[in-house]
Amino acid sequence: MSLKIKYYGVRGSLPVSGGEFAGFGGNTTCCYVQHKDTKIVIDAGTGIRILGLDLMRTDLPKTGGRINMLFTHTHWDHIQGFPFFIPAFLPNVELDIFGETKTVPGLDGEAEVWSIERALKMQQHFIFFPVGTKYMSSNKKFHEIAAGQKIRLGEVDVECFALHHPNSTLAFRFTAEGKSFVFSTDVEHNEDMLDRLAHFSQGADVLAYDCQYTTAEYNAGKVGWGHSTYESGIEICKRGKVQSLHMIHHDPLHTDKTLFQMENDAQALFPQAHMIPEGFEFSL
Ligand SMILES: [Zn+2]
Ligand SMILES: [Zn+2]
Repeated sequence: MSLKIKYYGVRGSLPVSGGEFAGFGGNTTCCYVQHKDTKIVIDAGTGIRILGLDLMRTDLPKTGGRINMLFTHTHWDHIQGFPFFIPAFLPNVELDIFGETKTVPGLDGEAEVWSIERALKMQQHFIFFPVGTKYMSSNKKFHEIAAGQKIRLGEVDVECFALHHPNSTLAFRFTAEGKSFVFSTDVEHNEDMLDRLAHFSQGADVLAYDCQYTTAEYNAGKVGWGHSTYESGIEICKRGKVQSLHMIHHDPLHTDKTLFQMENDAQALFPQAHMIPEGFEFSL
């Protein structure tokens, strides 16, 4: 086995709870990729809290070591679990944090530059949260990454790709020992995006893709909201010859019943389409 992958949070936009969401789970985006000793966390939605608890049950607290964290972007549902990631409080842990630096309009419209470091620190400003990042004792290093960039973490090659989303997002392609996993969430489809994402995902084993809406929902008022449909995910898989589609970033309004129905509808078009529940793990 080369890549071991587990989804710790697959809900989009906002965490949800309650019996009707118990099957697919309510935690927001977090995915964990491991290859040999290389640990890679994608995003820090509320699901990262459980990942932290899992890592604390391994040798990590005793041996310490390096954890790589890649951020697709800094919308709440992708960062809000970070203050609850317990390994980040261990002094023997090295946290290598990768994200884009963006120039965005400030409150009065003036241009502001925001690095991933600034975004995470501001989320834990005392006005929002009692414990600042400076009290998280891990040795944190912040790295700027950008679309088109390739980095290597351990023996894993990681490619970055720009997605169409308000304030933009990065997709990542992980490749090790000939196996490839593409993580592409928070993306709105258009013809150009489908084509380029199919190219980026070409021949991958699995594409995890933002399937927040049904096409009916999308057409009935969600155009421009920055999210996509399973039909688009399937189209990318077919064009890019990707073996499996993992549907993620579930809408907070979608109950288990709705998600099962969407999975059935998707599988009628592409049998290798799977609606992903929180906690789902697999190896490539
Ligand atoms: Zn999101
Ligand atoms: Zn987003």
